[in-house]
Amino acid sequence: MTREVPYFDRALETSPPERLRALQWERFRALAREVFPANRFVTEKWKAAGLRSTDDLVSWDDFFRLPCTTKAEMVEDQAAHPLFGSNLTYPLERYIRVHQTSGTAGAPIRWLETPESWRWWGRCWSFVLRGAGVTAEDRVFFPFSFGLFIGFWSGFEGACQLGALVIPAGGQDSPTRLAWMEALGATVLVCTPSYALHLLEVGRQRGLDPAKLPVRITVHAGEPGAGIPEVRSRIEEGWGAKCYDHAGMTEVGAYGFECVEQSGLHVNQAEFIAEVIDPASGVPADEGELVLTSLGRAGSPIFRYRSGDRVRLTSEPCPCGRSFPRLRGGILGRIDDMLIVRGVNVFPSAIEGIVRRFPAVEEFQIEVFTRSAMHEVRLLLEVDGPADRVARQVVEAMRANLGIRVEARAVPAGTLPRYELKAKRVVKKT
Ligand SMILES: [Zn+2]
Repeated sequence: MTREVPYFDRALETSPPERLRALQWERFRALAREVFPANRFVTEKWKAAGLRSTDDLVSWDDFFRLPCTTKAEMVEDQAAHPLFGSNLTYPLERYIRVHQTSGTAGAPIRWLETPESWRWWGRCWSFVLRGAGVTAEDRVFFPFSFGLFIGFWSGFEGACQLGALVIPAGGQDSPTRLAWMEALGATVLVCTPSYALHLLEVGRQRGLDPAKLPVRITVHAGEPGAGIPEVRSRIEEGWGAKCYDHAGMTEVGAYGFECVEQSGLHVNQAEFIAEVIDPASGVPADEGELVLTSLGRAGSPIFRYRSGDRVRLTSEPCPCGRSFPRLRGGILGRIDDMLIVRGVNVFPSAIEGIVRRFPAVEEFQIEVFTRSAMHEVRLLLEVDGPADRVARQVVEAMRANLGIRVEARAVPAGTLPRYELKAKRVVKKT
């Protein structure tokens, strides 16, 4: 007997763009009516922008006139209104969970969830898992520490909603997690791309070949890694599985996912409104900063949030039949993270793409020095094999493929950090 899969709505995911647009508008209007009178953060912000009541919101032009929200504003608001800020639509007792951002880029932001918004998170994640081909028959393994960071908590909820068998694997070291995966017959692994690579390394050290485990799908988030072809193929080969990328943020939700065609991240237009703007001028663009509005989180909403992620949006049809547009190449990088190496603009993800072509490089770090507003890059490489030769080859590949000159230095095995959560491989030096 096949278990019922809730929220599976192929008709929705393949419906014509006009229908999705109409659905978004309906949901946005209902959300605005609920939020605007009650949420101090939104009331003040929209009033300052000239909105008198939600009756003023009659067309998409009115939506695009609403001011964008930035991360700095959220941080400031929480500092001014401890503990949880003023972006709350309901009294505190209506909320059931608190999470916070990972804090990899500055002060963490706390976020409260209601029972409804938590179900919504799970629903968004079930799009992600279904997109990758996960079904109710799968056993989904979460090697995640289940702390304050929302990370894979929401993925766990999504896998529950899908009806899969979910395996929580917090509070364990990597060898134990591998042993559990084997013992419990995990078929899906959900973690950061860095951690999937680290588990491969641990497996190799213990004489266990992860490709022999029944894992058939890996789903990743938290870093651009799984969208980098060289990282993806390393994960797919090592695990003998298909590797899928997904995109989400604590402030926004799980908004992007890959389908089995693996040709970019679909943006879930049933639950989010996505725009792409030129980050400098704010005018709409095909490539630029992704701006997101979540449609299912009335308790702690976000409208026109500047994600800081650089993307390239396309509405070309996908062979999977979904009409959700796609981000080509996934998240290209954080706008703030872009490096200018001797006049050449380059994202750390592009550097990672080249480094990962060298199977001998186990782990790496990017040291960045700033000299008169220009960046100089030194790569630290943990190499299994002839270190100096590999380092020279990496330098040459950087020059040939990215047009940048970098320094590379081999460091002893096991000296660079390994990551379970978001990897932080770029280290700024003064
Ligand atoms: Zn597709």
